[in-house]
Amino acid sequence: MTTLTTSIPVQRVSKSRIKEVDFNNLEFGKYIADHMIVADFKDGKWHEPTIVPYGDMLMSPAMLSLHYGQAVFEGMKAFWTSDKNINIFRPARHAQRFNRSLNRMCMPEVPEEMFVQSLHALIELDKDWIPTSEGSSFYIRPFMFAYEARLGVKVADHFKFIIINSPVAAYQAKPYRLKVEDHYVRTAEGGTGFAKCAGNYGGAFYPTQIAREEGFDQILWTDHKEHKYIDEVGMMNVMFVINGTLVTPQLNTAILDGITRDTILTLAKDMGMKIEERRVSIDEIEAGLKSGAVTEAFGTGTAAVVAPIALINIKGQDLAVPEAGPSSFQLRVKEKLNNIRMGKEADTHQWNYIIPVR
Ligand SMILES: *Cc1c(COP(=O)(O)O)cnc(C)c1O
Repeated sequence: MTTLTTSIPVQRVSKSRIKEVDFNNLEFGKYIADHMIVADFKDGKWHEPTIVPYGDMLMSPAMLSLHYGQAVFEGMKAFWTSDKNINIFRPARHAQRFNRSLNRMCMPEVPEEMFVQSLHALIELDKDWIPTSEGSSFYIRPFMFAYEARLGVKVADHFKFIIINSPVAAYQAKPYRLKVEDHYVRTAEGGTGFAKCAGNYGGAFYPTQIAREEGFDQILWTDHKEHKYIDEVGMMNVMFVINGTLVTPQLNTAILDGITRDTILTLAKDMGMKIEERRVSIDEIEAGLKSGAVTEAFGTGTAAVVAPIALINIKGQDLAVPEAGPSSFQLRVKEKLNNIRMGKEADTHQWNYIIPVR
């Protein structure tokens, strides 16, 4: 159990919008909860975060993030535990990754304490927005951007850190059909791929749109040099089960260090599974799908937890991935993770940040 150690000023909404929410039909990101937290970095330091009603903000068209891209975000979740407390999942780890992304973009760090306390205060205040149905969650979006108004190219001096939240339904797992990308790249080694910065998404839209027009759901990104080794799938990390071993590309500067990736690797070890973090070539996956050595392929990320892959198109051939049955690793690990987050199974790695609700 945790307690708030700082007091954060709150300006409450005069009227909640929660009645407008159709909790039986939560489209991802459609509804934003009543309040947001906003903190300014100015004159070389952070100013006190405040909670205010969620709504439009006045900003200059010359603000630097719009022109030169200093914008970074996180994506994380909170849940109701089975004994009706609030659980924010791995907030410290998200704070640390946020700071790695900020460093890469020449933006000032948010102290971990401020990040976690802000989450705590905001989520506790808007707790009625956390959906209760099985598999649903509160999707949390901390982000930061340069808002200094100036046209000259420079590292900004003024930034805003904001958190907004959205109730979301359980992810509907429609297995993906993947195109192996052998022309475009999401990022390159030495680039910004390991940072969760806005521009990585903007740059991925076009190749993804082309893949969609060709009848695929997502892209299997490969390395920028040879298009030979697998990086990620869409905006998720990717894992395979090969001859009973859980295999995932080892991290490099072109791969985002997913927290779901880390969580699943840790749980796989707990479950007695052998794991390998190493380079994974397209050729290995092609041969493994043909021989039957590759029994599972799935994406991992906060939004979906695991997203099954149904098909990978390699060199013009549609290679099917076996369907993930109830005894598959991906479904077992997903259930185990869900049990830990709900408080039904011991949280041996101290991943849960519990806000007691009286
Ligand atoms: C956010 C993200 C992921 C998944 O990270 P999680 O922490 O598991 O949500 C994977 N790849 C990219 C490119 C991402 O932006």
